[in-house]
Amino acid sequence: MSDTPEDLRHEIRQWLADNAPGDWRDQSTHEGFVASQRAWFAQLVAAGYAVPHWPGEWPGGGRSLAEQKIIYEELARADTPRLLLSFVSTYHAAATLMECASKEQAAHYLPRILKGETWCQGFSEPGAGSDLAAIRTKAVRRGDVYVVSGQKIWSTMAQYADMCLLLVRTSSEGAKQAGMTYLLMDMTLPGVSVRPIHQIQGDEEFAEIFLDEVEIPVSQRVGEEGAGWAVAQATLASERGLTLMELSYRMRGAMTRLVSEIAGTDRTEDRGVLRDLGALATRVDAVCALADRFLQKRMEDEEKIGDASVVKLAYARCLRAWAEMGVTLSGLSGQLHAPITYGDLNSGNWMADFMNSYAWTIAGGSDEVQRNIIAERMLGMPREPRGWKLEAGQ
Ligand SMILES: Cc1cc2nc3c(=O)[nH]c(=O)nc-3n(C[C@H](O)[C@H](O)[C@H](O)COP(=O)(O)OP(=O)(O)OC[C@H]3O[C@@H](n4cnc5c(N)ncnc54)[C@H](O)[C@@H]3O)c2cc1C
Repeated sequence: MSDTPEDLRHEIRQWLADNAPGDWRDQSTHEGFVASQRAWFAQLVAAGYAVPHWPGEWPGGGRSLAEQKIIYEELARADTPRLLLSFVSTYHAAATLMECASKEQAAHYLPRILKGETWCQGFSEPGAGSDLAAIRTKAVRRGDVYVVSGQKIWSTMAQYADMCLLLVRTSSEGAKQAGMTYLLMDMTLPGVSVRPIHQIQGDEEFAEIFLDEVEIPVSQRVGEEGAGWAVAQATLASERGLTLMELSYRMRGAMTRLVSEIAGTDRTEDRGVLRDLGALATRVDAVCALADRFLQKRMEDEEKIGDASVVKLAYARCLRAWAEMGVTLSGLSGQLHAPITYGDLNSGNWMADFMNSYAWTIAGGSDEVQRNIIAERMLGMPREPRGWKLEAGQ
């Protein structure tokens, strides 16, 4: 490990100059995308840059906040692909295994994640998204197994996943949250079927998972039966917190793409364009600063309810403004569509990035729900009435 943060910057910059994949936007098939993601992840693991947020006993883990920032900054600066395929494995699954699983479970799965095992998150259902406690996928204990039937939806990369973080209902007694249990499901078990969902921008980043009498060993349960809600909070906290730092830095790195749209054209003389770009750059910087401060608080154990929601909301809104500016500045050529555009904001295709930017206003908890959390739980404003419905015309 490098002696000072600046040594680390030098070291990773050098490594990226030799290793950053240059051709990742040229993938024209899903198989090509998956292969390139796996190869890049393996390279990052070998170099010790894949999981800087993991504890120190793991290769590349145990990095300070300053070091994590440098790694994310340099990966963004070198315009490397975001690891969409390993996202759930290295953040959500890892956080859950480290914080809530048994020692045996963590010791079994964490090394496999570093070897490239892919995980997906099976929380949402057609009738349970914002109101996650409404899940209906049912698990009945029969001896040493839970027999699980139901349906999950919007599961990112589930079609490529080896394992799934699965939230199920083991009881319908008492509070909705009390009857939930958390399982680790092998995606190859009999009764599991996966159907990719075709998205507006032409990709298939997530999928539906159908579960028909799937037998999951009881040993694959995380925490006690009925304690799934608390475990799920650990998974979600990682989604709304840590990942946003990486994403914010990537957005700042990608500002150069925006600027290159007008470089060499007479639009650099257009005061309106320059003003808008300047305002956006400041906003992107502010999101990075919010993400930094959030992580600092978390590392110092000072995180408060709603802190993660502030970062999530600010990031999602700013990403939309960023992509919108890209579409505006790129003119007609920005409408062209590359065949594969995975990568949220860094796909190389403005229109796809614009359409994708809306996903972040929903994924990991919608903007409206984040606002509710900030208003009610941070600012102490009155709670929304229970059970309200939107009337026609409202
Ligand atoms: C790109 C992407 C990736 C995702 N990946 C995963 C994944 O890997 N695994 C997984 O389990 N899920 C995943 N999801 C699902 C995501 O968690 C849900 O979409 C999200 O929680 C919202 O739930 P919903 O889609 O059911 O919408 P609903 O909850 O039905 O909401 C519909 C609308 O009503 C609004 N609304 C709902 N309740 C309130 C309220 N109380 N007050 C005000 N407004 C409200 C919402 O803000 C929204 O605008 C993903 C979603 C996206 C977009």
